[in-house]
Amino acid sequence: MSWLRSARTSAGELVDVKLADGLIAQVIPATGTSSPGDENLAGQVLLPSFAEPHAHLDKALTAARAPNPAGDLLGAIEAMARIAGTLTHADIVARAERALRIHLALGTTAVRTHVNVGGPVGLRPLEALVEVRERWRGLVDLQLVALVPVPLSGQPGKDLRQALKEGADLAGGAPHLDPEPDRAVGICLDAAGEAGVPLDLHTDETLNPAILTLETMADLVTRTGFPHQVTASHCVSLGVQDSKTQQRVSAAVASARIAVVALPQTNLYLQGRAHPAATPRGLTAVAALRAAGATVAAGGDNLRDPFHPVGRGDALEVAALMVTAGHLAPRDALDAVTTAPRAALGLPPVSLSPGDPADLVALPAADALDALGSATEQRTVWRAGRVVARTTLHSSVASPQQLKGAAR
Ligand SMILES: [Zn+2]
Repeated sequence: MSWLRSARTSAGELVDVKLADGLIAQVIPATGTSSPGDENLAGQVLLPSFAEPHAHLDKALTAARAPNPAGDLLGAIEAMARIAGTLTHADIVARAERALRIHLALGTTAVRTHVNVGGPVGLRPLEALVEVRERWRGLVDLQLVALVPVPLSGQPGKDLRQALKEGADLAGGAPHLDPEPDRAVGICLDAAGEAGVPLDLHTDETLNPAILTLETMADLVTRTGFPHQVTASHCVSLGVQDSKTQQRVSAAVASARIAVVALPQTNLYLQGRAHPAATPRGLTAVAALRAAGATVAAGGDNLRDPFHPVGRGDALEVAALMVTAGHLAPRDALDAVTTAPRAALGLPPVSLSPGDPADLVALPAADALDALGSATEQRTVWRAGRVVARTTLHSSVASPQQLKGAAR
């Protein structure tokens, strides 16, 4: 049992929070008291820990090894293919664990990662990530999505079924790259259904409006009554449809209970390079989806690899981009990296209420907007009530008076 004292919630309340047995046991107005062993969070904002709904840990931290001069999606896929032979088990484990340490230090305690399966790498990345998932159990919830190449009607479809037997938690794929995109959606859904697992597809990661497998997906999920969770990641082409189409497809997505994951960092980087004037944003139709009642989460996708060579693995950076480029209100952007991805990942909610998991992050800030804006790396992170990461920073800044004093 422990107490977090004088924490500011995202709703602006000043509270004391009691943690016990891995859960939030009590939340009361701040008493101003503190006992030895308590955590004094005066001047800090306490948030649910972040959940990363879409990562690629097997590719993380390869940007220098696998340059992508074209800067687009195909260039990134080719760059990864060029280094496939160097992706040994030990290399994948080492980079994935380094990426997890970065995420955890910044307050992310759950990560869903897509893992390449099939082609030249075979099952190697999956075996490595299964090892990492087991080793990190209790610190970071790691969910593995089998990401197979195309065509799904050929060997990749068989590889997907194999991966689900070899430890992958979810079925994945990228039907928009398939010669038969709509059929590919059906194959992935069937594989997930047979294995009894959720589905998370790379969906319509293109500015080509003619590709809209999201609608097929919503239709199939509704018609078949698919009983497991379904996530559509990217959904870039929905963002370039006319607003009537956006509304129709968003309504179908909401009614099929498909969660959509927007990935601003990678899609602002990869998409739009063929449009030097009025460059379109590679973002899904965030407003239409939210208006229809769909769950819209946001993720970091690629951590310094050929698909996105910069980025800090910080959910607050993702949330800031959802404000800047996705036009979410700051409060909704914080939800997009906390509440929404937890729902998409099938994790219990953390709303700072008794009974919620004590998965939390605190950072020095006046309020939630200040926390999102400053995004200081000074953070304390709790997983199941235990401090699992603590970063402290010290900076020293000269004052104008000091400079005047030195000049005399
Ligand atoms: Zn991805």
